[in-house]
Amino acid sequence: MSNQTASQPNSKPKQPLRPRHVPQRTCVACKRTEAKRGLVRIVRTPEGRVVIDERGKMNGRGAYLCRTQSCWAIALKRGALERGLKLQINQEDRATLAAYAASLPLSDDEEGSEGAPA
Ligand SMILES: [Zn+2]
Repeated sequence: MSNQTASQPNSKPKQPLRPRHVPQRTCVACKRTEAKRGLVRIVRTPEGRVVIDERGKMNGRGAYLCRTQSCWAIALKRGALERGLKLQINQEDRATLAAYAASLPLSDDEEGSEGAPA
């Protein structure tokens, strides 16, 4: 009976867990710093349009906003976004941004919707 234990330890050198650098971005509305992924990037295109860059890969001047309606409202109403992007947002793009904002949660702390009737 040759009961071979096939558990040969792969002698891989264990790499020390280094804290990975997470790029931080600042929301133009509430100025909160967050990991890039937690924010939505809005890009100003060379044509002077404003588009939502969900993947954060587009070229151009970008501004970041939290994924909350409140921040988008501030950004749109108080011109924080226009300041961040250094351009005037036209009606059409404004409507697009407003529509996107409407799909976002109202605020960040939406954990455990208390007392919501089913
Ligand atoms: Zn924010």
